[in-house]
Parts: sequence; structure tokens; C-alpha cells
Amino acid sequence: MKVLKFGGTSVGSPERMKNLVELIKSDEPKIVVLSAMSGTTNALVEIATALYARENDKAKKLIDALEKKYEEVLKGLFLSPPYKGGRGGFEKGKELVKNHFQFIRSFTLDMFTANEEKAILAQGELLSTALEHFYLEEIGIDSVLLPALNFMRIDENDEPDLKYIEENLKAELKKYAGKKLFITQGYICRNSFGEIDNLKRGGSDYTATLIGAALTSEEIQIWTDIDGMHNNDPRIVDKTFPVTELSFDEAAELAYFGAKILHPTCVLPAQKRKVPVRLLNTMQPQAKGTVIADKASADRITAVAAKDGIIAIKIKSARMLLAYGFLRSVFEIFERYKTPIDMITTSEVAVSVTIDNDKNLDAIVKELNEFCSVEVDKEQTIVCIVGSFTADKQGYASRIFDSLKNISLRMISYGGSENNVSVLIDSKHKKDALVALNKGLFGL
Ligand code: ASP
Ligand code: MG
Repeated sequence: MKVLKFGGTSVGSPERMKNLVELIKSDEPKIVVLSAMSGTTNALVEIATALYARENDKAKKLIDALEKKYEEVLKGLFLSPPYKGGRGGFEKGKELVKNHFQFIRSFTLDMFTANEEKAILAQGELLSTALEHFYLEEIGIDSVLLPALNFMRIDENDEPDLKYIEENLKAELKKYAGKKLFITQGYICRNSFGEIDNLKRGGSDYTATLIGAALTSEEIQIWTDIDGMHNNDPRIVDKTFPVTELSFDEAAELAYFGAKILHPTCVLPAQKRKVPVRLLNTMQPQAKGTVIADKASADRITAVAAKDGIIAIKIKSARMLLAYGFLRSVFEIFERYKTPIDMITTSEVAVSVTIDNDKNLDAIVKELNEFCSVEVDKEQTIVCIVGSFTADKQGYASRIFDSLKNISLRMISYGGSENNVSVLIDSKHKKDALVALNKGLFGL
């Protein structure tokens, strides 16, 4: 069984929903995971925000506008009635859209809580999958609409419960012996109370890798509009190329450091069960894309990625000199404010760390100030060079720093893993740094 995930733009219009059929209609058994049509989840967030603020008139207008959009989709997607015998996709779609919007509208009448917000956010994927299913039915392709809410689940720490998913997904599939094509919703799940929940924005990739892992499937395909993972950021440097093969470790580093094409945590379930993940382009289905697999690549520099919006915090104290327990008291503060630290460098009397979210920055600095002096630099960028630098046989470090010789470096992190060298720079030097690395490391 293969798992194929298509994002919001791949189902973003009636045209795209129809074109999708070419990519999923083969006889190979497969589970197709779909996102909401592009724009829908954002619109649902807006609706929920208005409901929270008790701006019910505004919410109603937003709901009407979104419903109109779906009515247009129906016209573009299905044959117009009347049909010879029976109901066609248009009628079924019309009823579906009506029901879902009635449900969303029902929240304008009553109290609005976080649970209800999650129920609203789930509507996009429920709509896109049912519409694609009706379309397949109308053109005579047999498929099963598999309700993700029957098997996708997160535990009390909001972590996916792979064991539960595996058991329940297998039980669900058992009901349809002989069927080959399954359509299911990305992103949505139930939580440990059984309520509707989600895997956070962009979570459809995660659904796909969780399903692939649960079934130890042959391959997980993530279809987007880009031809795989590139060696550098194509929005910033002129020449880039798709990387054909990545190890799971390299991919995990790249996903966090801004390579927008994969949800950061979603590599983990696939890695755990060694299921290869292939990144493919719907606009160029024949292109090879990038495959992420359990294979250690040879010594090499694979790609460069950058993450903006980083805050560097320098924490200095004479108490650090020859003392133990100092770092623990620093890290405890970040832990208490649930703020992850990304990069760390130390000297004998100071430590610098980076965070990517300033929500609790003031409170953290205040507590640190009780026993250290603290300096904060905002608008920093982490540039991360990913590859396999085992034993550093070929002088990779010197090639990297030689390429960056004209850029001032605020922090350097080397040796944290064999797959990553990171440097922290002022964001205004990001372009220069990426261009210099493209030239120095890839000759581009
Ligand atoms: N529809 C959800 C979102 O827009 C999930 C996804 O597209 O992956 O975040
Ligand atoms: Mg997406």
C-alpha cells in the first residue's frame, strides 16, 4: 500500500481536483490523504476568531462568503443535472455543502469554546475529501472515503498515538477487502477525550507519514508544487537544484530550518518505521523529486537552509566560572516558559542560546537577570548547512567558513550532530550568506 498526500493547492480548484485523478487512478492499492482546498483553513480560522470575539455578524458574512465559494466549486466540478437515473455528484455535493455550512452556522447561535473551534477547523478536509470522492464516483472510479476521525488520534500530550492509529486504521481497512483506492482527511484527528482535534497547521503531511508508518507502507508520497527539496532557497539565490536523495537525519534538520516543503516533525514516524518519503511535484509528475530514506549518504554537503525570526540571548555570569549547575539553572527557566532552545554555544563565563519565539522573552530575561547579565539580539537568522560530515575527512568545515569569510558570524555550532553545521547571523546578511554558500559549496 502506498500513501499519497496532496496539499491545499493540489485540490485548490475544480480543475485541480479533476487533474488529481490522473495521479491516483492506477490500480496500485493506495491511501490518498487530502488537505482542505487552499484558503479554506485560513477562512475557517477567521470565522472562529470572529466567533470568539462574539462578532457574530462578521462571522455570518464570512460563512456566507465561504459557502458561496463552495457552491461555485460544485458547478465547476460536477456535471449539471438532470442525469439519466439516480443522483449525480452535483446533488450529493450540494447536500454535503449545505450540511457542513449549517453545522458551521450553528455556532453563531451559542457559546463558543476551543472545542468548537477545532470542530470548525475540521470542516475543510471533510469537504475536500468528500467532494473528491463524489467526483471519482461520478466518473466511474471506485473509491472508499475513509473517516480519519475513526483512526487518527493524539494522546494527552498532543502527540500522535501510533499504536492506536495502527490498530484502528487496520480495523477500518479490513471492512473494505478488495478495495484499492482510499481517500482520507489530512490534519484532523481526535484527542484523548475523543473530541475533534487537529495536528496543527500544515499537519496533513504528518497524517500521511503517520498512516505510512502505521501500515509500514511501501512509500509515502508528498505531492506539492515544488520539485522536491532544493540545495538552497530558490526564493533567495538564482540557481538551485533539487536534491534527489536525503537521509532521514538530513531531512529532519532541513525541515526545521526553513525548507518549507515538509512539516518539521512529520519525518519522524516514517523514520521510525523506515518508510521512504518521496517529495513530488503535481505540475511535473514525471520528475524524480526527492526521496528521503533510511540510507546514510556518503560524506557530502547536501543543502543549505535558513530560518529567520531568531532571537539570540547572551547570558553572562562570573558564577559560571568553574561552577557546575549553572547551565541547568539557565535551562530551567526556558523550560518553565515552555520555550525551546535551538542553538547553544558556550564559553567559560557566558552562554549564548537562540529561541524562535518571543512570547515569553520578557519574563525569561527578567528571571535570568536575577543572577546573570543578559543581552538580547533580535532579527537574527540561523543558516544551516546540512550533509554528512562524518570524521570531516574532506575539510568541510574549512570550506563552509571560507565561503562565509566576508560575513560576520554571531554564533557557530559544529559537532552537535554529524548532519548539521549552523551559524547565526544578522538577518540583513542572509542573502549574502546564502549566495556565498551557493558559490563556495556548490559552485553555483
Ligand atoms: N488544511 C490545514 C492547513 O491549512 C492542514 C494542511 O493543509 O496541511 O493548515
Ligand atoms: Mg499545506
